Amino acid sequence: MKIAVVGTGYVGLVTGTCFAETGNTVTCIDIDVNKVNKLSKGEITIYKPGLEKLFLRNLKEERLFFTTDLAAGVKDAVIVFLALPTPPGEDGSADLKYILGVAKDLGRIIQPGDYKVIIDKSTVPVGTAEKVRDAILSASPQAESLVTAFDVVSNPEFLREGVAVDDFMKPDRVVVGTTSEKAKKLMNDLYAPFVRQGNPVIFMDERSAELTKYAANSFLATKISFMNEVAKLCELLGADVDMVRRGMGSDERIGKRFLFPGIGYGGSCFPKDVQALVRSGKEVNYDFQILNAVMDVNEKQKLHLIPGIKKYFKNDLKGKRFALWGLAFKPNTDDIREAPALYIIDALTKEGAGICAFDPEAMNNVKAQIGDKIEYAESQYDALKNADALIIATEWNEFRTPDFLKIVTNLKNKAIFDGRNLFDVAAIRELGFHYESVGREIVN
Ligand code: NAD
Repeated sequence: MKIAVVGTGYVGLVTGTCFAETGNTVTCIDIDVNKVNKLSKGEITIYKPGLEKLFLRNLKEERLFFTTDLAAGVKDAVIVFLALPTPPGEDGSADLKYILGVAKDLGRIIQPGDYKVIIDKSTVPVGTAEKVRDAILSASPQAESLVTAFDVVSNPEFLREGVAVDDFMKPDRVVVGTTSEKAKKLMNDLYAPFVRQGNPVIFMDERSAELTKYAANSFLATKISFMNEVAKLCELLGADVDMVRRGMGSDERIGKRFLFPGIGYGGSCFPKDVQALVRSGKEVNYDFQILNAVMDVNEKQKLHLIPGIKKYFKNDLKGKRFALWGLAFKPNTDDIREAPALYIIDALTKEGAGICAFDPEAMNNVKAQIGDKIEYAESQYDALKNADALIIATEWNEFRTPDFLKIVTNLKNKAIFDGRNLFDVAAIRELGFHYESVGREIVN
């Protein structure tokens, strides 16, 4: 099939590459000239495990193309994915200006004779498929004859950053919102290679598909905030959240995943999607109470380590220097959107502390955002030099079993503040560290 993907960011590039990998011819379109130039030359613009190899192979096999020209990019495509940003607007609702802007452009491009399926892959509020349809028709000089020339389908993306390629190639499920039989058939054919093991392609109406994505992300965010509250209670009551988590997670009805406490969720999806669902509720006079609490808990959780750090340094952080391991909002990505590390940096630098950070993939993104507000180290151990303590904000695998001798020799104080519960409390105490984590010890 001939496919166009409009928007070549995290989702668009994975979508385009994975569809090319199953033999389709894919043209990815982006307004960012620099990005398109790099990608066309074989320079990957984002870090995702496994993506570069597939990207280079499909580029070489001439199944994957990049352009800034929307009209040329969608000309021969039967399927047009919209993988555009839907950032939060001022009131928290998803800003649809990118989606509806491109929809209008498509209205001027699509001709009555050639059938196209326009697919919302972005996370969009209920009713967006209808808005996209209206925008296309309103911009078309031949609106009347265009009515049957296209369908708008909702096909939300559930990939997890960090394992995006695996998730895309072997999805737990594919959700497709459409009532058009023609579109259904095309979507079935398109996804057939990805669900050969029998995972379902679930067809539903557009509105239900749109809501499914928000409900799924908001539920996962709720699980995280719930466990962060349980962790807090563990600290106050003298229980160990690791034990509680294991005891809870063995119950099949609860499940083991998303029960790990930490310093809050971040990234490009959970914060904005939870906010947008609350906003969608408000628009129909519904107060989604649980989600308001989920957001409150998460905001506080990002700074969970700060009181302990302040107490350890007797409320005087001026001139102190911290090694910070991890900047990305989670491991195996360079995405720093809403990353807890950035909140920690803000809180500590405001108190006059200095920070030297290391992250295996996200340092360039942080440099671009906050520049020399902090220092950047060549390695996780370089970050420790002359530091007063170590803070861990992301659970990268290489931080899990570090060389403790190197930590001891470099740090001024044997103090570790761990926002991701990487180490065994008893073992690290035995090494003589002052160690604070989340939900595993009584705090005052
Ligand atoms: P992104 O910001 O990484 O990428 C968006 C791309 O769209 C950028 O490259 C930008 O230059 C391009 N763009 C903007 N306006 C354009 C236009 N008019 N024409 C062509 N290109 C244009 O965003 P993302 O993380 O890929 O997210 C896209 C959507 O997918 C969002 O709605 C997001 O919520 C959703 N989503 C993201 C993830 C994720 O893991 N990042 C997962 C599931 C769903």
